[in-house]
Amino acid sequence: LDYPDKTACILWFAGCNMRCLYCYNPEIVLGKGKIEFEKVLQFLQKRKGLLDAVVFSGGECTIHKQIIPYIQAIKKAGFLVKVDTNGSNPAFIQKAIEASLLDYVAVDFKAPFSKFETITKSEFHSEFSQTLQILIQSNIPFEIRTTVHSELLNEEDLMEMCHYLHQHGYKKTLYIQQFINHTKTLSPLPYSKNQLSADRFQNFPIPVVLRN
Ligand code: SF4
Repeated sequence: LDYPDKTACILWFAGCNMRCLYCYNPEIVLGKGKIEFEKVLQFLQKRKGLLDAVVFSGGECTIHKQIIPYIQAIKKAGFLVKVDTNGSNPAFIQKAIEASLLDYVAVDFKAPFSKFETITKSEFHSEFSQTLQILIQSNIPFEIRTTVHSELLNEEDLMEMCHYLHQHGYKKTLYIQQFINHTKTLSPLPYSKNQLSADRFQNFPIPVVLRN
């Protein structure tokens, strides 16, 4: 499910430079890693021929100090690499593309910039824009995705975000993940009404697909 058309395992990297209110992974964002990288490589050696790819996720994997050598080691072992990122680290994306380390990237577009800080408790909207431009100008397959909680983002916000993407050269799909209720989150949130349906996005400037 995490890498289009590939079988993959996921490495969840502890720590994050955002504090999104709706974050499903408080243990990962606030916790510490539990597995040594050598063990990951040993695991992957046994999965050769069964797994196509490894997904680097988190948390925010791109801020891990060893991310580049880790990806190099996994690519050397013969696996494709996908990176899930919140878009806050364009320098890493640039460097990794130049070193041919990325096979697929999924970038979160958290919110329209007027709400970005409130929802993510961070100020990385300009870094997100830079990441978007780097990926558009590369030939790396990538996708943009947004998690929607009805109390945080509404249809107007999504329209604004789609206009932004379209105006900045992204003509592909925005994937929407509707917030899953009754999940532990970084901040207590009210019930999300999840009222979105595909027919509401027909007049949007780029295609919008609901994933759940
Ligand atoms: S949802 Fe936000 S806080 Fe949670 S891991 Fe992703 S970027 Fe970090």
